[in-house]
Amino acid sequence: MPQTKEIFLKDYRPSLFHAEHIWLDFVIDSVSDVVITATTTFKREEDSADLILDGNPGLVSLQSISLDDRELTTEEYRITEDSKLVIPNTPQDFKLRIVSRTDPSKNASCIGLYTSEGILCTQCESEGFRNFTWALDRPDVFSTYHVSIEAAEKDFPHLLSNGKKILSEKLAEGRHKAVWEDLRPKPTYLFALAAGKFDVVQDSFTYPSGKTVRLEYYVNEGDAHLVTHAMECLKASMQHEWEKWGHEYHSDSGVFMTLAVDAFIFGAMENTGLNIFNSSAVLADAKTATDSAFKNIDRIIDHEFCHDESGNWVVPRDWFQISFKEGLTVFRDQTYSADRYGKTQSQINNAWGLRGAVFPYDSGAMTHPMVLQSYINTDNNYDVLTYPKGAAVNRMIETLVGEKAYEEAYRKFFGDDEVKTATIEEYFSFIAQSTGKNLDQFIATWLNQAGVPLLEIQTEYLEQHKQFTLKVNQTLPVSKDAPEAKKTAFHIPLIIGLVGPEGKDYPLENGGLLEITALENTFVFHNIPERPRLSLNRDGITYAKFSYSQGSAPSTEDLIFLSQNDPNPFKRWDAFQEQAMTILLELISQKKEEVKPQEIQGIIDAMESFLLDETLDDGLKSSLLALPGLGTLIDHQAPGTVDPIQLHKLWESVNAVLGQSLSSHFLKTYRSKQSDAPYVFTPRK
Ligand SMILES: [Zn+2]
Repeated sequence: MPQTKEIFLKDYRPSLFHAEHIWLDFVIDSVSDVVITATTTFKREEDSADLILDGNPGLVSLQSISLDDRELTTEEYRITEDSKLVIPNTPQDFKLRIVSRTDPSKNASCIGLYTSEGILCTQCESEGFRNFTWALDRPDVFSTYHVSIEAAEKDFPHLLSNGKKILSEKLAEGRHKAVWEDLRPKPTYLFALAAGKFDVVQDSFTYPSGKTVRLEYYVNEGDAHLVTHAMECLKASMQHEWEKWGHEYHSDSGVFMTLAVDAFIFGAMENTGLNIFNSSAVLADAKTATDSAFKNIDRIIDHEFCHDESGNWVVPRDWFQISFKEGLTVFRDQTYSADRYGKTQSQINNAWGLRGAVFPYDSGAMTHPMVLQSYINTDNNYDVLTYPKGAAVNRMIETLVGEKAYEEAYRKFFGDDEVKTATIEEYFSFIAQSTGKNLDQFIATWLNQAGVPLLEIQTEYLEQHKQFTLKVNQTLPVSKDAPEAKKTAFHIPLIIGLVGPEGKDYPLENGGLLEITALENTFVFHNIPERPRLSLNRDGITYAKFSYSQGSAPSTEDLIFLSQNDPNPFKRWDAFQEQAMTILLELISQKKEEVKPQEIQGIIDAMESFLLDETLDDGLKSSLLALPGLGTLIDHQAPGTVDPIQLHKLWESVNAVLGQSLSSHFLKTYRSKQSDAPYVFTPRK
């Protein structure tokens, strides 16, 4: 049944019951008939409270309930209209055994236990566990597990769950059974089970401490030859996690498994010890995959492995805090990509995503603060504000406190010996405390205010005083979620450079890092011998849109100069984007559908210089050769003025003219990259 009740953050209370250990017994008769016996040892915190378990009577048929080995009568419990199983008058410590029956083939939501192509598998985040049994299905209740799975060996030769397999035995009538033990406490949403016919690929990874982890990929039959790249990525990710964040895989099971099958319809899920991926996020070979497919697989594998710590070791306290794990984990996978493929490339990718997808969303009707105040269905909370915006907010904190200090604070926060829960505010406050940086305003604004701030730039150069003045006026976004956003200025880091006529930076304090904390901010720079060119938003770390007050916008010459000469490589890309954007927006405003080369000469010239520049690495060159995305162009037009047909025709025409004008350079570049050697995917390191 869909959840229709609105849940409020202000109503959050810790659970009054602990579910210390769960023994789950799955007896699989077929993909449409599974009997599940859940035996849980509970501990009650208060003298008197009803045990209230989550379930889904539409999918789970309750067969029997026993409390401390005595079967309860139907008078001793009740099922409420909102699908809760209520058991009053429980003892302080007790064992509850619930037998349920479910038909996974009827579970069309594919959340919980479901079947596809003869495979049975689970997706429990965020509230799927309740779709096959009754439980305290919330992220702040941790349990250890034993899981027994029994099925016909012919149909389900592999029976998988989290942790370590401690028993494997043959039963009568061609059936078999596996028992898994997971003594690393976890919330229900990280539980996983899979049963089916798979091919297995094995390898291992050894940490400097000597700890060796067995790595296993389970894939659809016939797909084993497509796992080589994924296995290399997993090892690279484990190595990076160890080197950068001091994260050693948190498990004493000694095995890290990934199931990658077509039947899993979500991208990937980080269940402890048993990740489950859609095969598209794992399988690749040189015949079928492009460079970007190889890179994407690398990113997703790293992202899910990072969750072993940011998510599974420190768990979001409630579903209002999803960005605690997702924003932070995207930030961490971006760091991995930066180290593996180059920092500039990663900065460009991040800025591209923010401008094309996140800013439009965060400026529209769906915007919400990073910490949600309420929700109706948790599934709607997995959006671009939870993921890339959350990452951008972490990146801004890292910029404010410094990379090393952020890393040290991270290591301390995640360094406990036991699994714990956290809120986003707790994590950010910990960073503030541990680095000595006052982040009160940052935390209050970024966690509770929705939308994208607008920074209006005003510049002035006084020749006689050799003085450059930068004024940054902050306009706060208005949104229905956070009317208080009208009142409080965001705390925003902004990195700038002042570039001299030779393309060299004038030295600035603090590497040019400015802190915007008020609605009006003025920064004065002395001893600047000539009017500098302002290199704004270096590294792309500022989560804001920019505009210029009258007379302060960079000229076309400024932008061309910066795109050719800015010492900050991100800014070379950004300056070209700005230049191209100005030209394209002008053509859009003129309602042009077809263009002549001279109308986009600035774009043609810039691209030609990138194609001819042999100092650029190929990744950066390919980013520099991309026009601003259509999403970004739309986001720069006034609401209600976008004409998609015109935009499409113009876009096609611009690309055709670029192709014709630069065909000899493109062809030369293409030919210079041709090779008869077999394709090898090579990250920078
Ligand atoms: Zn994630």
